Amino acid sequence: MTDRPAAASFDDDSGVLGGLEPNQVRVRFPPSPTGLLTVGNIRSALFNWAFARHYGGKLVLRIEDTDASRNTPEALQYTLESLRWLGLNWDEGPEVGGEYGPYLQSERMDTYADVVAKLLAAARAYHCYCSQEELDQRREAARTAGQHSGYDGHCRALTPEQVQAYVEEGRRPVVRLRMPDRPITFTDLVRGEITFLPENLGDYVLVRANGYPLYPLVNPVDDALMEITHVLRGEDLLPSTPRQIALYEALAEIGIGSGRTPRFGHLPFVMGEGNKKLSKRDPGSGLGEYMERGFLPEGLLNYLALLGWSIADDRDVFTMAEMIEAFDIRKVNANAARFDPKKCEAINASHMRLLPADEFAERTVPFLAKAGVLPAEPTTEQRALLAAAIPLVQERMNTLSESVDMLAFLFVPDEDFSVDPDAGAKVLTGDAGAVLEAAEKALSELGEWTTEAIEQALRTALIEGLGLKPKNAFGPVRVAISGRRISPPLFESLELLGRERSLHRLEQARGLLAD
Ligand code: GLU
Ligand code: ZN
Repeated sequence: MTDRPAAASFDDDSGVLGGLEPNQVRVRFPPSPTGLLTVGNIRSALFNWAFARHYGGKLVLRIEDTDASRNTPEALQYTLESLRWLGLNWDEGPEVGGEYGPYLQSERMDTYADVVAKLLAAARAYHCYCSQEELDQRREAARTAGQHSGYDGHCRALTPEQVQAYVEEGRRPVVRLRMPDRPITFTDLVRGEITFLPENLGDYVLVRANGYPLYPLVNPVDDALMEITHVLRGEDLLPSTPRQIALYEALAEIGIGSGRTPRFGHLPFVMGEGNKKLSKRDPGSGLGEYMERGFLPEGLLNYLALLGWSIADDRDVFTMAEMIEAFDIRKVNANAARFDPKKCEAINASHMRLLPADEFAERTVPFLAKAGVLPAEPTTEQRALLAAAIPLVQERMNTLSESVDMLAFLFVPDEDFSVDPDAGAKVLTGDAGAVLEAAEKALSELGEWTTEAIEQALRTALIEGLGLKPKNAFGPVRVAISGRRISPPLFESLELLGRERSLHRLEQARGLLAD
């Protein structure tokens, strides 16, 4: 999608754009492909995507896969497929290419080594030979003395003789960034001005002793090299931001990247049950669940957009095109957002209702096929029956997988049809035999097999004839023909099922009563 509002509407966006043309915006989504995308990850991806599309800029997909033990090719494929399922398309990255590649960090190791060499040469970084025990001891001592317990700068200015001695001892150094000795202040697009004091910002490790480049190095280095202009990400990463800003400044000094520090916007925490941060182990936190349950991508994204943002006070349901048009990072709420599974489902249900019936039918097919209710390629007759049934169920379903429970009774061959034992035990008791018999008789004598005629006949036979309340009259008929206590509207269902099959089921249900 490249459509965006006319440039004139960005007049008051200078606080966000900071002198950039709207289409110069470059944001990124940098997942670690570990085989799991959480709703928190997706919310970050969504806000970056909406931001890029709003301004007509670029979304870069960068894969943070330096940890070979946790990142597999299958997990990468899963990540790409998930983003495609969501419709969050990227302008640069895997399978798309771009001028700033490669976009897999595992393919950029030489670049990181080169950058570190330059930082060391410029004395913006230095080798630290302290052992873990030494660090622990000094940290403990500092704590006891009531001082700050970050790295104490021990190796900032080693003499060549000291270095020589460490090397002879066989020590292998880590690389630390030399942090500036002054506060670091920045204006967060969500939170306003934030200041970090130097005593809380010790020189931190960029490269492990075994040469492994760490996230606090590779993430900002790539942001700099890929000329990222805005970093929108979760609040959990806020503590790393002042360190990253110091690294950007160091990189700019030695001529790496665009020389511009990106603007940051930290998106609010997503809280789960019991007001605890939603964790990737919590039910409802992984994307896979939503795909399996048959959420619509547009429904899920709409709900995730509400975790920190809203289109208007009185409006919850909107399309992604509307979100793009209206998205303003400054309107994101800094307060933690609560993940509410019920609301998520309700928003999805609203999008289900908005789908044209033929598209709705199309989207249910994979779910019906997976459950064995329909073949993957339904026949013309099956498609016609599905099309006729959709208007009966569309208003009653919250997710696409519910189509299985709702519609299986129509497609299942009669010899495979069975009544849900719980529904049978609760409803096919007492007077049900008389009800089913009267229904069968009335329907077998019916001339015209239409919804109206069926309703008329059943009302006459059961409500007037037997003097029953509608619930007691129609409950057994519903269970008999659908096998369940909840089904699409009854008379319509009977019409769709046809006379012969309906009568057969009523008779079958009477058989269940006998014993
Ligand atoms: N790979 C990091 C993560 O998935 C990226 C964080 C960031 O946006 O800087 O948490
Ligand atoms: Zn040291």
